[in-house]
Amino acid sequence: MKLVILGGPGAGKGTQAALLCSKLGIPLVSTGEILREEIAAQTDLGKKAESYVEEGELVPDPTIISFIRKRLVQPDTAKGWLLDGYPRTAFQAEELDFLLDELGQRLRWAIYLKLPDSVLMERCLNRQDGRLDDREEIVQRRIDLFNDRTIPILEYYDYRDRLLTIDAAGPPDRVLQEILQGVDPAKG
Ligand code: AMP
Repeated sequence: MKLVILGGPGAGKGTQAALLCSKLGIPLVSTGEILREEIAAQTDLGKKAESYVEEGELVPDPTIISFIRKRLVQPDTAKGWLLDGYPRTAFQAEELDFLLDELGQRLRWAIYLKLPDSVLMERCLNRQDGRLDDREEIVQRRIDLFNDRTIPILEYYDYRDRLLTIDAAGPPDRVLQEILQGVDPAKG
């Protein structure tokens, strides 16, 4: 099962991604989490990404695409994966399809966790994990970027019959059930 999960900041992508991966037994590739770890460790990737992540800007496509290209050929990804936070731009979505074509693989679903902007903002401001990019003006920038750069991808996936839109307003266990029913009705 090959999945991507999309949603604005605070939509619950990280929470749902972790729950789904343990339920489905597939590895999680969360670009945001990985970037935060690489920044903390001051690796080459971390140093390249740091200023973008802190300001709520997108890390440039070539940097993130080359990371994903390396990650999705690791042996643990053979039977499936879930990408959290990738793709975020139309270019990244196309690149993912090119890569999967090369590997003879296919993306099953793009899961979109849908929430109004005002709720996204409220959730980020109430988050307890102290992320530097959860300050109000930075969250607003991330919401704007989501609307400008990521929302257009939804059409790309919808056109290819791979879009699963989920109302993300409910409690996490209800959202999870809805996703599971959507990705595989037998598991719901
Ligand atoms: P997230 O944890 O998904 O909210 O991501 C946190 C930050 O990491 C974002 O605000 C971006 O700066 C960066 N980031 C994560 N994924 C990507 C991506 N696919 N493309 C560009 N930047 C990304």
